[in-house]
Amino acid sequence: MFEPLIQKIQKEGRVYPGHILKVDSFLNHQVDTTLMEQIGTEFARLFEHEQVDKVLTIEASGICPALTTAIALHVPMVFAKKSGAKNMGESLYLATVHSYTYDRDYVINVAKEYLKPSEKVLIVDDFLANGQAVLGLLDLITQAGASCVGVGICVEKGFQEGGALLRKKGLRVESLACISKMHDTSVEF
Ligand code: 5GP
Repeated sequence: MFEPLIQKIQKEGRVYPGHILKVDSFLNHQVDTTLMEQIGTEFARLFEHEQVDKVLTIEASGICPALTTAIALHVPMVFAKKSGAKNMGESLYLATVHSYTYDRDYVINVAKEYLKPSEKVLIVDDFLANGQAVLGLLDLITQAGASCVGVGICVEKGFQEGGALLRKKGLRVESLACISKMHDTSVEF
């Protein structure tokens, strides 16, 4: 557990219907740059022995924590895009992801030149709910012949299945805040 993030969620997080936690004031819309820098430093510390070559995330909300992590590790950051795949089929890796927040499927893509075989990739994302976003990123890594050395999550919703699903696959998942219960106006860690 990462205390600065826990405190921020307790102070500014808002619970919405459908077990959605809104953190627009510091993570998903406005960005608390000091906190984001601390998050990057913490992920870099947790994964410092994994010889990470690259940090991978999905646009848009994963970009901030992935960027600060990559800066702290002195490696590139790549974000999978949600659009722009038309007519570029053979130069892209594609994967389908079911969106938890919008309840629909979308296709993510990464250019083949930015994910290479033998690269050790660290996945970073803002939230982990049912694990679909991370599974999509894993699919891209597998297609590239690269390997995933771990998953860094800012906020895991521990009462949903994603964390268990990924850990059962043998993945190292590190979450900085893990929510055990969501009430109408508060959350428990
Ligand atoms: P999953 O793919 O694990 O089911 O859901 C993770 C993705 O859905 C994250 O990338 C995040 O954008 C979004 N998400 C899931 N739950 C929440 C939530 O409670 N709050 C916010 N802001 N985003 C969420």
